[in-house]
Amino acid sequence: MRYDLRSHHERRRAAEPATFICKHCSRPVDLHAPGTRHRNHCPWCLWSLHVDDHPGDRQSTCGCLMEPIGIWVKRDGEWAIIHRCTQCDALRTNRIAGDDNDWALMALASHAIRHPPIPLDVR
Ligand SMILES: [Zn+2]
Ligand SMILES: [Zn+2]
Repeated sequence: MRYDLRSHHERRRAAEPATFICKHCSRPVDLHAPGTRHRNHCPWCLWSLHVDDHPGDRQSTCGCLMEPIGIWVKRDGEWAIIHRCTQCDALRTNRIAGDDNDWALMALASHAIRHPPIPLDVR
């Protein structure tokens, strides 16, 4: 039987506590986010926490929930989520992660289209 040292190592690493419970949807979230250096929002509901003054610094004393309010398409085509703090109204943009829920992203991206500020029933 072939013994794969690397997968053994991965398993040991995975056994360490590396999850947190989302404060918005109460689902367990893996701290390891594919495609980003650190998890900055929940992959299920896309909500975030106001923990950074600058991306990744964990220096904010606010700590309140941040609502995902929109999608920003960067110049290279990559999507980023715009978060607004429910407490202090600070705005942040966060890269999406490889395991973010596709339907949640699409729902967020189409939110403005589904709620137009002008009547669309042209006759
Ligand atoms: Zn969540
Ligand atoms: Zn805040």
